[in-house]
Amino acid sequence: MIKIRIKDNNISPRFIKKNSQISKNQKKPITLPTKLINYIMILIETVEKLKEVLFRIKSNGKTIGLVPTMGALHEGHISLIKKAKSENQVVVVSIFVNPLQFNDPKDLEKYPRDLEKDLLLIENFTDIVFAPSEMEVFPTAPVDKYDFGELDKIMEGVSRPGHFNGVATIVKRLFEFVQPNRAYFGEKDFQQLAIIRNLVEQLKIDVAIQSCPIVRESNGLAMSSRNQLLSFAKRNIAAKVYGVINKSKALNATSVKKINDFVLAEIKKLEPITLDYFSIINDTTLQPVESLDDAKGVVACVAYIIGEVRLVDMIRFK
Ligand code: AMP
Repeated sequence: MIKIRIKDNNISPRFIKKNSQISKNQKKPITLPTKLINYIMILIETVEKLKEVLFRIKSNGKTIGLVPTMGALHEGHISLIKKAKSENQVVVVSIFVNPLQFNDPKDLEKYPRDLEKDLLLIENFTDIVFAPSEMEVFPTAPVDKYDFGELDKIMEGVSRPGHFNGVATIVKRLFEFVQPNRAYFGEKDFQQLAIIRNLVEQLKIDVAIQSCPIVRESNGLAMSSRNQLLSFAKRNIAAKVYGVINKSKALNATSVKKINDFVLAEIKKLEPITLDYFSIINDTTLQPVESLDDAKGVVACVAYIIGEVRLVDMIRFK
């Protein structure tokens, strides 16, 4: 359980070989290894150090997979990390609670944070954790403005104004810092995935965007960092939303109205849940469809509030 923290830009990074007996507190600088893969996970907190380490890795011809996260990690994140590990030689996990994507200051304030716990959870699958401060990522206030056309005019884009501009701002920055071969995003945040693909296309960023399926709790609830803000009882109620949308598939209806009517009526019965939206959409354009026959790929996205917590989920119809 040894983690190496690289904090100070003026000192050499310190690495400890896997299985070595050197204690966490021992400050003996050693040379940067060329075969990083043989070393334990390292934690980097500055952009400068990150670039320095990655430069050496890339000079050795290694491929890099990036998994951007906001921490409070769970099995869903781990599935992304494992996929990244299976497709790349080096995996970088970023942990940064991006203030720009929170339109509700209370949501930002109560967002769960526990870096030490996160590090322990992922140390066996991860090579580098990049956990910068806000100043490190945004030394000056960012002024990025993106146009995602119709992609952000619905669902999260409507309920959380500015959210996707904030997401794009941080993801673009992470891509600049890491310059990964591949980057991994979950289908749970389905609209986010479409926004990132669009961002990469617009800015012609040379990175492959890999999507990963939703990992669920045993009761069906999509894993989320925000779940830990809910009581056990509320988590079980939230899981019923997934039960409803999943059941709507079994209606075998093609009419979106019929599916909608069913879902809305069933969710209404779930106290204390407030539905924000349930949208059945074309999986590429994200535009609503009237019939499941209207597009080759169709998914349903849902957002709801339980207690003070807002959760999202999705299912694929076809
Ligand atoms: P977050 O830390 O919530 O920003 O999530 C980081 C990444 O993990 C995003 O690409 C999410 O879509 C993905 N993710 C979050 N929860 C899950 C889950 N339950 N299953 C799969 N991926 C997830």
